[in-house]
Amino acid sequence: MLGLAGWMCSFCLLVFVPNLLVANAIPQMPFGAGELAQWQLDIPQASDGATGSSGVGAGASRVGRAGYRSADAQSPWGVPLRGPIQHWSNTHDKPLLGCQFQDANYADHVGVDLPVNAGTTVYATMAGQVVWIGDNGAWGNLVVVENGDYQTWFAHNESTSVQVGDLVQPGQVIASSGNTGNSTGPHVHYGIKQFQGDDDMTGTWINPGLFFNAEDVIDWPCGD
Ligand SMILES: [Zn+2]
Repeated sequence: MLGLAGWMCSFCLLVFVPNLLVANAIPQMPFGAGELAQWQLDIPQASDGATGSSGVGAGASRVGRAGYRSADAQSPWGVPLRGPIQHWSNTHDKPLLGCQFQDANYADHVGVDLPVNAGTTVYATMAGQVVWIGDNGAWGNLVVVENGDYQTWFAHNESTSVQVGDLVQPGQVIASSGNTGNSTGPHVHYGIKQFQGDDDMTGTWINPGLFFNAEDVIDWPCGD
């Protein structure tokens, strides 16, 4: 029996090792040397541009303000990921911070990009109401949570685990990350839109980096 088991093991290695080598190589091969990383190419629609301008290209992709405000509405806080974080074949103890808000390499970028492998758990960053889930053009599979003067946007998901109208708490699981929409590499695009009073239905994108500590993330330059 031992002899047979040994023979079977060798046979399995012969059969499966080449497949494993191919599978392991794929995550390390998306970019050639000197090329820009592709996961930051998540260009937002004109209707949700950095200026917050309305009416320019506004269409089905636009997410309006629902008007939800809880009695204890607060600003968002933290990053929507928890370490350890898997990015390609490497594990990091904290989330990576790639393309930043209005990044020097990407001036129209209206959020921050957190490169992770598809299937990474995404968490709410404030209490609020889910006002959008599902496919939304360039944003891919999108979740938007609103409360008071803020909307938090989580884009390019693989799947979502909440429904429109759900009330969520900070740290609640809302999605599984992915590579949907205008995204050619797995990452979470996290955006924060701020409204100036109840009559502002358009809002303005603000820097999510103002809403977490620098030491909570690992800098990962936009072009790498
Ligand atoms: Zn982005």
